[in-house]
Amino acid sequence: MQAVILAGESGGRPASGGDPIRPERVDICGEPLLGRQLRLLARGGVAHVVLLAGPGDDHIVDLVGDGARWGLHAVALRHPAGQGATDALIASLDALEARFFVFFGDMLFDLDLRAMWAAHRRAAPAATVVVRPTDQPQTSELVELDLDGQVRAFHPRPHSQGLEIANLARQRLCLVEKSALAALPSLQATPVAGGDFLHALLASGARLLGYRSAEYIQDAATPEQVRTLRRDVANGRVERMSRRTPSAAVFMDRDGVLNVERSYISAPEQLVLIPGAGEAVRRLNASDYRSVVVTNQSVLARGECDEEGLARIHARLDRLLGRRGAFVDRLYYCPHHPDPGLPGGRSDLTLACDCRKPAPGLVLRARDELNLDLARSWMIGDSTSDIALAQRLGMTSILVRTGHAGADGKCRVQPDFILDDLAEAVNFILRNAS
Ligand SMILES: [Zn+2]
Repeated sequence: MQAVILAGESGGRPASGGDPIRPERVDICGEPLLGRQLRLLARGGVAHVVLLAGPGDDHIVDLVGDGARWGLHAVALRHPAGQGATDALIASLDALEARFFVFFGDMLFDLDLRAMWAAHRRAAPAATVVVRPTDQPQTSELVELDLDGQVRAFHPRPHSQGLEIANLARQRLCLVEKSALAALPSLQATPVAGGDFLHALLASGARLLGYRSAEYIQDAATPEQVRTLRRDVANGRVERMSRRTPSAAVFMDRDGVLNVERSYISAPEQLVLIPGAGEAVRRLNASDYRSVVVTNQSVLARGECDEEGLARIHARLDRLLGRRGAFVDRLYYCPHHPDPGLPGGRSDLTLACDCRKPAPGLVLRARDELNLDLARSWMIGDSTSDIALAQRLGMTSILVRTGHAGADGKCRVQPDFILDDLAEAVNFILRNAS
């Protein structure tokens, strides 16, 4: 696998005027940032690196050298001053393989690159861009995806009023097909794209895939971000957030736990957060727990709402959480209902499935996609089916007194703990973890 690093001036920063301190060289716990990244790349299967840098970036080029000390082969290509990242990339196509990762030198990530490569190969888009839920939607470029995970639109900030999409922030890491870039008309001829090659690809009609990652990604462009990075490296968070390391999750039911229970929410405005729920999820986000929503949404099988409608409802959930600085790593839903005789029901969804809770399908999917350790994970629900699911999979269960408060009578179960609401449940979990 090959990776292209947009560094120094090629990364969009002006010439340093002889100042050798660039984010790439900032010391992160005894190792320069870019060196640390190169080591992670080599570990992840990248064999070749092309460093794109400007004329004033000698110190970065010297740092990378031939790549041997990091366990890979590196070459540096220098570009004229003032040339933007995209132009530098297009000018370098001759040195590039058929497909390659592209990222910036002032960031650190620890992604399972082989998994991303495999997802890209399966979907065969022009490019795959990493996205992740964000607790800062207002300061992020948001990526609007369709139901298949393909990019519908990029929404750079500032966002238009009333933008009603999920809080998925674009990350500065992508995987690109060389042939797609080569086919782009000159970027000077497409000023609408703002010089951004992903925007230009999308504007040209190319297919782009959004790749959701919950792994470690941190920019290091500001002193505050560098401090965060140092802390995360020092306390092992980078390693713990990687997909190599199994993590613990807090699984949450949706209706009656995160949002106020009402029979079958079929429109976004019907979704209202339970007081304190957003702040509770935010506390989870600051911990090492993954936050995962698992919810039965037979509203689809009943024909009261379609997949696009449900996506709009979940986009609203995202936005309400985002306003409180919170996000969920993943949300999984079961669209099915076992009753084939539902009036107005959809025949493709009325069936016995393996994902309608208390069946384990949704949690097992989350386990495989996020590499979760279920024995260390928790389930917070208001229904006996949530508790039954937790017991079946060896997770610790908390029944909350909101929503159905366990009075649904579906399963005969005894929860491990009974607490008032999500806020109290999260506090309890975090106290137990420390
Ligand atoms: Zn199902």
